Amino acid sequence: MEFLQPGSWSEALAAKAEYPDAVPLCGGTDVMVEINFDRRRPPALLDLTRVPELAAWASEDGRVRLGAGVTYTRVIDELGAVLPGLAMASRTVGSPQIRNRGTVGGNLGAASPAGDSHPALLATDCEVEVASTTGSRRIPTDDFYTGVKRNALAPDELIAAIWITPPSGPQQFCKIGTRNAMVIAVTAFGLALHPDREQVGTGIGSAAPTPRRAPDAEQFAAQALAEAGLWHSRGPLPQTLAVEFGNRVRAAASPIDDVRGSAAYRLHSLSVLARRALTWAWDDYRKAA
Ligand SMILES: Cc1cc2nc3c(=O)[nH]c(=O)nc-3n(C[C@H](O)[C@H](O)[C@H](O)COP(=O)(O)OP(=O)(O)OC[C@H]3O[C@@H](n4cnc5c(N)ncnc54)[C@H](O)[C@@H]3O)c2cc1C
Repeated sequence: MEFLQPGSWSEALAAKAEYPDAVPLCGGTDVMVEINFDRRRPPALLDLTRVPELAAWASEDGRVRLGAGVTYTRVIDELGAVLPGLAMASRTVGSPQIRNRGTVGGNLGAASPAGDSHPALLATDCEVEVASTTGSRRIPTDDFYTGVKRNALAPDELIAAIWITPPSGPQQFCKIGTRNAMVIAVTAFGLALHPDREQVGTGIGSAAPTPRRAPDAEQFAAQALAEAGLWHSRGPLPQTLAVEFGNRVRAAASPIDDVRGSAAYRLHSLSVLARRALTWAWDDYRKAA
């Protein structure tokens, strides 16, 4: 197995162009497990840990450009106040060791339906910046996940960064696992309130072949809140609205039975998570007034 170790972003892109079969490695918390268990034997590994550009984040044009190699620990420590939904999701990933190595870019590269960053990213305004030696493009997260553990990257492309608009309202992330830590989600749900444009963002995890949004639930909640004048009055959230929102999120899912949970449990738990997430976020919105 070839081991490629570029020292800069341009070298990394050149290496990927020359060896399109090379498997990128950032934190290695997915890749090394697959190699150690002999599930994958790529002809080459492209180690991105020495590419400084990937480990940086910055605020640009009112958005955060999060380098693909920024770890969960750094998201929590450095961006907890700016990107609260992603930070909440990051806190639930693995253990301190996994959070110290694992990256949001690696989560996107793996594109597992159970990846914890996806519901948080889907609920916000977010784009994935990918690049090759011929240029770069930005893919909305909605279009990034193309199938089970598949994404929209071309063979010569790498993930450079994730562009996220900091929220104008509260965010929530909820996850059910079989224990409290070191657990892959049975179901997960991300929610963002966007009071500036009176919209609600959602992200469903572990309950469909890909992470996905619940557009019908988003529209329903935004419209019901607007019709009741609640975005302005910040009055209490009607329980019927929260329950119906949960039902519509459930309707957007298409889970399977697997070792972690049954499809029926996933559907039920998702409706509960969605109802609670909306209720908690709305309470935060009211308190912030
Ligand atoms: C014990 C354990 C617990 C875990 N718990 C969780 C959990 O609770 N929640 C969760 O979501 N995940 C969990 N994971 C999975 C893993 O930690 C995450 O998916 C993590 O985000 C992967 O990041 P990484 O940087 O380590 O990725 P890597 O392993 O380096 O790469 C993952 C994938 O992304 C690709 N890739 C990496 N960087 C790039 C790039 N810049 N451009 C293109 N492709 C790229 C790789 O080729 C590979 O396919 C766990 C893993 C372990 C071993």
